[in-house]
Amino acid sequence: MPQKKPSILCVASECFPLIKTGGLADVVGALPLALTQLGVDVTVFLPGFPSVLSGLEKARTLIKLKTFPAPNSRLIKGITQSGLKIIALDAPDLFNFNGNPYQTASGEDRPDNAYKFALFSKTAAELAAGQYGKTKFDVIHAHDWQAGLTSTYLKIIGDRRVKSIFTIHNLAFQGVFPKTILSEIKIPQTFMTSDGLEYWDKVSFLKGGVSFSDRITTVSPTYALEIQSDSDGMGFGGLLRARGNVLSGILNGIDTDVWNPATDPEITASFSAKDFSQKAKNKAALQKKLGLRVAPKAPLFSVVSRLTTQKGLDLLANQVDQITDLGGQLVLLGSGDTAIEAKFKQAALQNPKEISVTIGYDEPFAHQIQASSDAMFIPSRFEPCGLTQLCAMRYGTVPIVGRVGGLSDTIIDANPMALASNVATGLQFSPINTHMLAATINRSFELYSQAKVWKSLVQNCLNQDVSWDRSAQLYLDLYTSVL
Ligand code: ADP
Repeated sequence: MPQKKPSILCVASECFPLIKTGGLADVVGALPLALTQLGVDVTVFLPGFPSVLSGLEKARTLIKLKTFPAPNSRLIKGITQSGLKIIALDAPDLFNFNGNPYQTASGEDRPDNAYKFALFSKTAAELAAGQYGKTKFDVIHAHDWQAGLTSTYLKIIGDRRVKSIFTIHNLAFQGVFPKTILSEIKIPQTFMTSDGLEYWDKVSFLKGGVSFSDRITTVSPTYALEIQSDSDGMGFGGLLRARGNVLSGILNGIDTDVWNPATDPEITASFSAKDFSQKAKNKAALQKKLGLRVAPKAPLFSVVSRLTTQKGLDLLANQVDQITDLGGQLVLLGSGDTAIEAKFKQAALQNPKEISVTIGYDEPFAHQIQASSDAMFIPSRFEPCGLTQLCAMRYGTVPIVGRVGGLSDTIIDANPMALASNVATGLQFSPINTHMLAATINRSFELYSQAKVWKSLVQNCLNQDVSWDRSAQLYLDLYTSVL
């Protein structure tokens, strides 16, 4: 008899296209769809931000939450345009605001982050345990600190039927709050232990996920190893080593329908792995649109990223002259640290024909940049998985990356051996410093000047399978293994 596939409640604060600040949204928007293709019953549980509620189709009230601490709260059920099942926690006092979900416009953490994401996680646990009518789930798959307390609440509820999986997308975001929050969020003081939620006399929501979940995953095998070390464990190394027997790394994929150069409505000319001769038209169109010198032979480098030191973009900001001195151009889209933003803006002001800098977040423009550029920088100091290099490869744009985390797992460096066997897909460098970045920029110009070699790099990128197919099966195996 065929085995019944488990029902999964995927709990996260972001899901593309309803709400997105970064890669987490891409994963939560795409992995459940890939799992659905494998016959798994997945529902995504989200905070009821305005864009989430307005983006739902066939929305209906599942239940009114009469005892919920915020008035007029409900669970709303609906689907996304692509058919993904969603349950949203519509709690207007907590989630009825626009803009970044975690920070105010001035970049401060929102003061009620702990309270609202704790209640969000608590509701998810109660929902999975069947406390809201007939709906219940076999597995909670929680993502990042915002959903980190779900397994803690499952423990408090005492429901051992529901299994819990916790995925760390970035160990740098730990959800650390004063311990006084515990009474407000209905967690007994007994959880304030070194093998519980306690973190340097505070409470970490991420630690809740690590301490109490049945399985822990992160988004690449190399990052899974890195975070168990004291040097890269960001204070969690010891705990993650102790839980090493239930920790694994599963690489992210991307939604290859959303990111498809053959059908992408945002780009000037379509192309594919079979024929990418039209990619050059996108390059020319972008150069023209941005007021850059229209130069088919000048290598066009790009950045689409948060502008932070994690992403190594402070290093790149110092190398812009090197790129233009060698005859290249740079197009950048991103926002983040004001000092990094200022440096890039200054460079663009001084050299507007060769450098274009757009500070902001713009999904269609990100697609255009991916379709148009020759190479993309992701010089990260650490990178759990990274999605931009996967999008880049899908669009035949050669990634230039730091050899860390998921970047080392997804890119094959164009060293002489890899070139000889025609498997290279990008350029890697290590250690992550100015000297090595400068050397790698030089190396990219050398490779670009050899048209045949560069073409084979582009072809190899386009040939990569960056879809969720393989990894979705690995998650399904994991779900099955915990049940
Ligand atoms: P992060 O650490 O920011 O999550 P990832 O590489 O995992 O990095 O995912 C970043 C995602 O956000 C990618 O889909 C990328 O295209 C997108 N992105 C980043 N910055 C911008 C921006 N300024 N405008 C549009 N999309 C962006």
